Amino acid sequence: MTAVDLAARVFLLLSGPFVGDFVATLASAWPRAPRPILGRSRCARCSAPIAPARAIPLVSWALQRGRRGCCDGRIPIVYPLGEAAGLAAGVAALLAPSLGAAVWLYAALMTLAYVALVDLRRFSIPTWGLAALATLAVIAVIAEPRMDEKLARLATGAVLALVFELLRRLVRRGGRAGLGEGDVMLAGILGVAVNWRLAAPMVFVAALAPLAIQFARRKFGPTPLGLWLSISTAVFLAAATFQPAPQ
Ligand SMILES: [Zn+2]
Repeated sequence: MTAVDLAARVFLLLSGPFVGDFVATLASAWPRAPRPILGRSRCARCSAPIAPARAIPLVSWALQRGRRGCCDGRIPIVYPLGEAAGLAAGVAALLAPSLGAAVWLYAALMTLAYVALVDLRRFSIPTWGLAALATLAVIAVIAEPRMDEKLARLATGAVLALVFELLRRLVRRGGRAGLGEGDVMLAGILGVAVNWRLAAPMVFVAALAPLAIQFARRKFGPTPLGLWLSISTAVFLAAATFQPAPQ
């Protein structure tokens, strides 16, 4: 690893929680644009400026016990979740096998965090999140050296989109469905972004994790499936990066 390579990775690691906080700001403002995008951050509740010392990702949230310093309102859970996801993206970038893989993984995990947080709050998949993931999926296909693996990725995306579209038509009759067109597109794009070997376990975990949680809490209701697809994909993408490539 060269000095430049190491410096770039350390930058990704240190910036991770701050970028994750910004991702959470975007997700909590969706479908509006956050205001102001740049400049000093302000409390979304009482518009008091937030001192930089109170804006340290995760640390400030933990020290203030999840409450705002200005008006004692609760800090929405998307902020610590986004900051933790950003930290995880930074750690993944530090450990990735190449700098290219580190940057791709960092961008993919941040985008997945954005999609997951919007779906958690609004039961909707943001179009810009889909567009960013589609771009990352295209890059993954272009970077794939083997032609058969390129085709396998595209086929995996097509199969996942088809399966989710069939499921969507099946559950739509049940009134408020936890599965929408955004989830179908998300599944197709993620099928291209991950290796085909990971596609089946990725969907399996995404489908079973919310069911398991609902059984454990004995509370049932619609599940934001895009949230669980994003989490599951993030875990499998990060895990796959650290394995040696199959010969
Ligand atoms: Zn406030």
